[in-house]
Amino acid sequence: MDKLDIIIIGGGPIGIACGLEAQKEGLSYLILEKGPIVNSLFNYPSNMQFFSSSEKLEIDEIPFISKEAKPKRNEALEYYRRIVTSNKLRIHLFETVNGVTKGGDHFSVTTDKTVYRTTKVIVATGFYDLPNPLNVPGEELAKVSHYYKDPHFYASQKLAVVGASNSAIDAALECWRKGSEVSLIIRGPEVGQRVKYWVRPDIINRIEEGSIKAYYNATVKEIRKDKILIDTPDGEVILENDFVLALTGYMPNFEFLEKMGITFSDDEKRLPTYNPKTMETNISGLYLAGVICGGMETHKWFIENSRIHAKIIIGHVTETSASEIDS
Ligand SMILES: Cc1cc2nc3c(=O)[nH]c(=O)nc-3n(C[C@H](O)[C@H](O)[C@H](O)COP(=O)(O)OP(=O)(O)OC[C@H]3O[C@@H](n4cnc5c(N)ncnc54)[C@H](O)[C@@H]3O)c2cc1C
Repeated sequence: MDKLDIIIIGGGPIGIACGLEAQKEGLSYLILEKGPIVNSLFNYPSNMQFFSSSEKLEIDEIPFISKEAKPKRNEALEYYRRIVTSNKLRIHLFETVNGVTKGGDHFSVTTDKTVYRTTKVIVATGFYDLPNPLNVPGEELAKVSHYYKDPHFYASQKLAVVGASNSAIDAALECWRKGSEVSLIIRGPEVGQRVKYWVRPDIINRIEEGSIKAYYNATVKEIRKDKILIDTPDGEVILENDFVLALTGYMPNFEFLEKMGITFSDDEKRLPTYNPKTMETNISGLYLAGVICGGMETHKWFIENSRIHAKIIIGHVTETSASEIDS
């Protein structure tokens, strides 16, 4: 296969934005996505509502029309799918990138199907593949999940939800409304301040009226087949339990980036090295785009503030390609 100008790893909203921008500039490009179009969004909870309004999720100023101001997951799937199909973006789905190596003036991108040669690489792989583990005995049991899909599954069941941010609170409320007996285990002293402003009063009222039992400043100690053990300020609590949803956030695949030669800050944030003016990493010609840029700070970047990365990167690619031709 001929050498491409750019390979984009990840067909999420930001990888798609990069593909659109590359196409507009007449560059040869390919998006490689290990799942379906916008795989992370596809795996979000079925009834999930974004905290951003639809205009803020738009890419390349293509209008995103939604029923309510804040769109639902299904509407976002439809929006990004239509962008890919109507613009005939070059994307290979269900093809996983296993590694990227640089040799001379090009990169080799190895997938589970083949090896590509390209001048530049954009990594837009997000952070939704690796959950933050609880690291407690019993976490490996089948009744424990780090992903939540649909409340129907938990109806009439004793459910422990671990976490205090949007994912955990949405799951706790939805499941309680479908008849689960919900306990909420929160590491800090309160429901997260970033919880959607129209959802936070709802959960606080459900906790205050006793419909959902919340344990604050509490951590999971152990999960057993039919119980969960919690450390609380008042001592150990043992609850009868059928299922655990450990919704304690996600992290980027650092090993994948490390193997490419990308370096990180050596504090707990593990910020990848890149120039914010160009998004180029410490490896020349290798760029980062989207939420992956935040390292462990997964609340720093969203679609709404990282969609700009596409223009910055493609602008830099075209500038540097022009100066390489001139020189
Ligand atoms: C529940 C939830 C709600 C959110 N709500 C909002 C919101 O309202 N507004 C907002 O702006 N942001 C929101 N975000 C944050 C952010 O917008 C999303 O994480 C968004 O999907 C990030 O886009 P991205 O393209 O950077 O990464 P992703 O959408 O995660 O895309 C990365 C893609 O890379 C693919 N991939 C990963 N590894 C490989 C590989 N080795 N080979 C090939 N493909 C690979 C994945 O399958 C995935 O499709 C939310 C996040 C979550 C988890």
